[in-house]
Amino acid sequence: MPSKMQRLSQFLAFFSLLCLPGIAVSLEINFQPVAPGVYAYIGDTGMRSFENEGMNANSGFIITDAGVVVVDSGSTWKVAEKIHAAIRKVTSQPVKYVINTGGQDHRWLGNGYFKAQGAEILAASAAIDDMKARGALQLQGLTRELKDRITGTEIVLPTRTFTKKEVLHLGNREIHLLFFHGGHTPGDSVVWLPKESVLFSGDLIYVDRLLGVLPFSHTGNWIASFAEMEALQPKRIIPGHGAVTDLPKAQRESRDYLKQVASHMRRAVDEMVDLQAAINNLNQSSWAHLANFELLKGGNASRVYLEMESR
Ligand SMILES: [Zn+2]
Repeated sequence: MPSKMQRLSQFLAFFSLLCLPGIAVSLEINFQPVAPGVYAYIGDTGMRSFENEGMNANSGFIITDAGVVVVDSGSTWKVAEKIHAAIRKVTSQPVKYVINTGGQDHRWLGNGYFKAQGAEILAASAAIDDMKARGALQLQGLTRELKDRITGTEIVLPTRTFTKKEVLHLGNREIHLLFFHGGHTPGDSVVWLPKESVLFSGDLIYVDRLLGVLPFSHTGNWIASFAEMEALQPKRIIPGHGAVTDLPKAQRESRDYLKQVASHMRRAVDEMVDLQAAINNLNQSSWAHLANFELLKGGNASRVYLEMESR
């Protein structure tokens, strides 16, 4: 029989284990003000993980005097619930609309939660096509990583759609939803507040971390979409990933990188340089300071080469 003392120390050891940092880390969501009534959540710039609940991306919301508009609903039901709780700390207005800026999991898999709160969900038709094509796979991938933290998450598609442009008038605000040419994913679109000169760029802009060129990305379209964002001349940008930023930094860390890799690979394919040599000759060192650089630089280079071969 263990003595009273032994039992007490066992209990204390068990209790301290529960309190150890790192054991039950879960995502905390807090929004920062960007402009009057406009808020951003800046997510983890690493990869999707159990700890960040797949929410390795930014999100935001806009307060109007007729309700709240959420930009990107998060990666899961539970993350959406946390987004809503954080919004409630700022305003008691109900969430009227949710805009998904693209078909990547962390932009829309929280839709079910907001639909249950009565919000209407909007996205570009190209984004909805992407959700239909990849939603089941995204859910599978996240379930592997998040385990029980995915509970409640289902595929819930937007019910209101637009092709190129939709202007949402809500209370005192004018909110422009713009689809250009996609890029990181085929359905990437932006939310533009012309009066406030604030742009929610979705996955068309990454800062602080290297952007990812994925099998379904298209750098030609991405660069073309970037030029359209530049034409808006936004004062402040809430990027898809990384801290709130301005146009010059977005140009350096997203546009210039895309242009450099694309023009290098265009030349390599035209000169019949083989894939491995083209990757070896590519100097990406100007972006080596960005997070995830080592992890993504090789895949990015080879995917852009393949894109140039197919064009
Ligand atoms: Zn993303």
